[in-house]
Amino acid sequence: MQRIIYDDDHESFRSSVHGFVEKCLRPRHDEMLRAHAIPRDVWRQAGAQGLLGLGIPEEFGGAGADDFRFNAILAEEVAAFSLGVSACLSIHSDVCSPYLVELGTSHQKRRWLPGMATGELVCSIAMTEPSGGSDLASLKTTARRDGDDWIINGAKTFITNGYGCDLAIVAARTTPDARAKGITLFVVEDGTDGFTRGRKLDKVGQDEADTAELFFDDVRVPDADRLGGLDRGFSEMMRLLPQERLATSVTSSGNAAQILGETIEYAKERQAFGQKIGSFQYNKFMLAELVTKIEVTQTFLDRCVMAHVRGEFSAIDAAKLKWWSAEIQNEVLDHCVQLHGGYGYMNEYRVARAWRDARVSKIWGGSNEIMKELIGRDLGF
Ligand SMILES: Cc1cc2nc3c(=O)[nH]c(=O)nc-3n(C[C@H](O)[C@H](O)[C@H](O)COP(=O)(O)OP(=O)(O)OC[C@H]3O[C@@H](n4cnc5c(N)ncnc54)[C@H](O)[C@@H]3O)c2cc1C
Repeated sequence: MQRIIYDDDHESFRSSVHGFVEKCLRPRHDEMLRAHAIPRDVWRQAGAQGLLGLGIPEEFGGAGADDFRFNAILAEEVAAFSLGVSACLSIHSDVCSPYLVELGTSHQKRRWLPGMATGELVCSIAMTEPSGGSDLASLKTTARRDGDDWIINGAKTFITNGYGCDLAIVAARTTPDARAKGITLFVVEDGTDGFTRGRKLDKVGQDEADTAELFFDDVRVPDADRLGGLDRGFSEMMRLLPQERLATSVTSSGNAAQILGETIEYAKERQAFGQKIGSFQYNKFMLAELVTKIEVTQTFLDRCVMAHVRGEFSAIDAAKLKWWSAEIQNEVLDHCVQLHGGYGYMNEYRVARAWRDARVSKIWGGSNEIMKELIGRDLGF
């Protein structure tokens, strides 16, 4: 089905992103897989092409696009190449930038946004802790007031861009025992005394992505580096999470659509019992179901993108989209592996990597169970 939300400007942007993927990302893929990181010069190339500051106002060095369709195209095209790379770029641009744009003081915006747009500053967001991520209101990292400063103590884990980031947006408890009403956000800069990283975590998939533990041992930050209101962190995170969930869903769907397309080509080439494997009725029907599921998902996704552009995208719609697109992605990729037979289990085949990369979609950014919990609550249960 023809997608109807993108006009000529968007499609020409898609071509330029495609060019960036082919010229700057694909030739460096092996290096990223080995380093578990996107090289710094690649971040700067993305910045130079205007890909890191889509939602950042022009006065702070961004494109001031204020049209999430451009973000969606970027996420979709990069995810078609690699889910891990798109995760790193998307956390920086679609997740972290809005916190600074929406909550930052003018001084904070001037200080950090231009570097984020050029790729000189890479940003992470640290909510999850070793003791739990789903129950965000119970987080244990503390920030204690000390004169004009705050002293942060605690640990975060599974943080995308964590090992190499220059800035971390950190959620910390500022009022004990107040659960959701006692959490505040801070920006912690690389090099601040007491702020250290653990190892790069050894993941099942997404080898390109830098995912790390962060430690805070009496980290002193000035009150000027507090982001948003005191004890308002939880409600700010809830307000901004729908965009994160939308971006994640775009990558899930874009990645699965691409790998399914490649698998259909494979099923036209590969022969068994003297015929193309895709022509066995079982496989033909299965592929028919998978392309249908992808198109139906894309249609809902596009509706959600437009709702977000209009400022009408709800947290509940974000929850529906996120679990659904993660589920479909995993279902599609599992069948794609099966259709590749033994080759589908070999890391040198894209389908194998994509299958490993996709598993986390049902866990991160709010697990599928938490998404259904939110939807269920909205139904009145
Ligand atoms: C590769 C990767 C990258 C990530 N990047 C980031 C990042 O950049 N920043 C960040 O802050 N976090 C990040 N995360 C963390 C991620 O968001 C959490 O892993 C996720 O929120 C789940 O938290 P948890 O791992 O502590 O699981 P838990 O909260 O311990 O949950 C364990 C299981 O219990 C289920 N469960 C929990 N509560 C309920 C309930 N009420 N009803 C039913 N089931 C429930 C969960 O769904 C899950 O299946 C990342 C994780 C991964 C793996």
